[in-house]
Amino acid sequence: MNFENSLAFAQQLDKYDSLAHFRNEFHLIKNDGVPMVYLCGNSLGLQPKSAKASIDQELNDWAELGVEGHFDGKNPWLYYHHFLTEKAAKLVGALPSEVVIMNNLTTNLHLMMVSFYKPTPTRYKIMMEVSAFPSDMYAMETQARFHGLNPDDAIIELKPREGEHTLRTEDILAQIEAHKNSLAIVMIGGVNYYTGQAFNMQAITAAAHAVGAIAGFDLAHAAGNLHLQLHDWDVDFAVWCTYKYLNSGPGGTSGVFVNERHGNNPELVRFAGWWGHDEAERFQMKKGFKPMIGAAGWQLSNAQIFPMAIHKASLEMFDEAGIENLRKKSELLTGYLEFILKDYSHYLTVITPSDPKQRGCQLSIIVKNDGKKLFDYLQTQNILPDWREPDVIRMSPVPMYNCYEDIFRIGDALKRYYL
Ligand SMILES: *Cc1c(COP(=O)(O)O)cnc(C)c1O
Repeated sequence: MNFENSLAFAQQLDKYDSLAHFRNEFHLIKNDGVPMVYLCGNSLGLQPKSAKASIDQELNDWAELGVEGHFDGKNPWLYYHHFLTEKAAKLVGALPSEVVIMNNLTTNLHLMMVSFYKPTPTRYKIMMEVSAFPSDMYAMETQARFHGLNPDDAIIELKPREGEHTLRTEDILAQIEAHKNSLAIVMIGGVNYYTGQAFNMQAITAAAHAVGAIAGFDLAHAAGNLHLQLHDWDVDFAVWCTYKYLNSGPGGTSGVFVNERHGNNPELVRFAGWWGHDEAERFQMKKGFKPMIGAAGWQLSNAQIFPMAIHKASLEMFDEAGIENLRKKSELLTGYLEFILKDYSHYLTVITPSDPKQRGCQLSIIVKNDGKKLFDYLQTQNILPDWREPDVIRMSPVPMYNCYEDIFRIGDALKRYYL
């Protein structure tokens, strides 16, 4: 598309945007009644207006039914996680049996590592991207220690080439090949939180499998952002949170994908709890764990109804919008932002790849002089990006509630700042 830096052009795109009405389904952050340009959907998505009614339903059932809500509520709590599975699976390109919603992200990452990281004296290495999200670094470090290994030896960090900010797929694949005899698992983020780079999960998975390693992904910044096809890509496992692009509230619940090859294997080692036990026999309270088939067999505890109620409301919106449609709009929105930023390339460097296949909606920007000052200025102009130490401004226009006019307004503010 040939973009133009004008309000009329942005408004024209909004007018013909078939997803534009979803913006009204969210509580926009306002300053003196004026909606701000919210660019932090990568950190905490905005609140869907339907979230409150969804929670209220469960609060009311609890008030009126007490424990009987497990069976007699409108959405019986005993099966609440079931109400999320199908739509969540569709969103990440999985079979329903391959997905379960439970716990929080880092907890789930550890649970997956228990099942999929089984180091031997020769094959024990974990490959991850350098400067991964800290929780992932700590999780991998302590997983290595848990197995009596030295993290400095067990963890291979993928680093960009000298002078580059992001990783080249060919280099990742070459590293996998170079460590083919010692590599146990590749565990990287689907989209890096800092650079906004999206990795080629299909190619990485194939390369890992070719050397006999497992491929797992942290999709915190990918779920609800990219059009994922976890099943077809043959990914072994994945985890994601729901409070970023999935708009399901602070500290919200999390999703897990376990490839059916593994999910159908009851012998696969895991840390178990009663909610992962065969549903038909769960309340017989007998000894001897018999896992549910599929990702459901990794559940520990009974469903967290309130965070799940928000997630249920949010998933309904994603289902209605369709992730393919969202992704199409997202490529345009972010392409438009990239176009607007080009006028300021003397002052700003976008470190996110410009190939749409190698990014989601986020652009990460290094400001040549005093980035914090520009960040503070943008806030005074009702524009809300986020700041990540040491020197990056992240802007994540999301297709569900951002509009093209938002992007124009960013450019307008930059004009006032620089010109
Ligand atoms: C946001 C994020 C987390 C946060 O983990 P929680 O367990 O949800 O607090 C972890 N890893 C990555 C890659 C993230 O982007």
